[in-house]
Amino acid sequence: MMYHHIGRKVRGLAMAICVIGVIGSIGAGVALYLLKILDLIPCIAIGVGGAIVSWLCSWVLYCIGDTQVRVERLEDKLIPKPNYAEYLNSNVALRGKCEICGKTTDLVNAKIEDAFGIRYRKVCRECFALNNAKQTD
Ligand SMILES: [Zn+2]
Repeated sequence: MMYHHIGRKVRGLAMAICVIGVIGSIGAGVALYLLKILDLIPCIAIGVGGAIVSWLCSWVLYCIGDTQVRVERLEDKLIPKPNYAEYLNSNVALRGKCEICGKTTDLVNAKIEDAFGIRYRKVCRECFALNNAKQTD
């Protein structure tokens, strides 16, 4: 689960890098001046310049993370989570020809509801899943 919901982590990382970069740049500028390593102007340039560069770079990283967060949200909405494993466990085997694809295998009594209305069919597991069917007794 280390990479689960990675978008939120990347967004957090972007903000952390921004804060560390701004504080680090200003701190470095102040330290270089106080230790008399550089003159005032180069120290201000390092502090201000570093802070601005950190801030701008964090935009890019934040954008990547934010896009990922939105993609994850869309996936949750668009990709149905089939109760497929649950159905495989509870299903009592019933052999025969699938009434949709004709394959001889274990069948399920399925209720299929779509644009054409409601129908009841004995179908294979693949057709059951493909047609988003409900199991009946
Ligand atoms: Zn089938």
